Amino acid sequence: CGIVAYIGHREAYPLIIKGLKRLEYRGYDSAGVALLTDTGLNVYKKKGKVSDLEQSLGEEQLSSHIGIGHTRWATHGEPNDRNAHPHYSHTQKLAIIHNGIIENYGAIKLNLQNKGYAFHSDTDSEVFVNFIEDIQKETYCSLEEAVRLAMQEVVGAYAIVLINREEPGTLIAARKGSPLVIGVGEGEYFFASDATPIIEYTNEVIYLDDFQIAVVREGELTVKNIENIVLSPYIQHIELEL
Ligand code: GLU
Repeated sequence: CGIVAYIGHREAYPLIIKGLKRLEYRGYDSAGVALLTDTGLNVYKKKGKVSDLEQSLGEEQLSSHIGIGHTRWATHGEPNDRNAHPHYSHTQKLAIIHNGIIENYGAIKLNLQNKGYAFHSDTDSEVFVNFIEDIQKETYCSLEEAVRLAMQEVVGAYAIVLINREEPGTLIAARKGSPLVIGVGEGEYFFASDATPIIEYTNEVIYLDDFQIAVVREGELTVKNIENIVLSPYIQHIELEL
């Protein structure tokens, strides 16, 4: 339902929480964040309001400059803590947030289960992140290449953002059929399902198109299409009343 992600010099956690609250008008049943910190890739998620998530975290050490956050509107699996996003891949190397529906997740899940993958939720989203990890493992490619190959197999609608424990300077996003906006700041990038969480930080935005993949690596943004062609995205200047 709602996506907020950040990479840059600011503290990611408060920024993501504030952004998720700006998206509350869309309605949702649960909320979560994944933060890459000195202690690793940590996922915190909970059924209920963004404020419930915040309260449950209390004294946790949440300092991080890269993170992803989500408010979920359940389509596959009841609203509960387990089904809330972000979802880890089975090795906990990756975490994903996903808006939309993967229609052919059942067949992909069965195939992964036959290879020994265990699942911890009932969501189509957890299948997506494991599918991406499996492709990367089988083909020894980059994560963005694994996302691109996964997009050729996956049927449905999605906006996703991925965080990778092994690449602390990198965020990867992709979309087909669900909106995704990238805010371009000074050495920092914001991702959101609409511009409202971004606009207080920057007016420069890129609306990702269907079948596009965005990669931020070491402060540089690259946008590719599903044919692996690097694009020069149109940066739009927007003014929004908050
Ligand atoms: N299909 C996913 C789920 O049920 C994502 C739903 C959403 O867009 O929030 O978890």
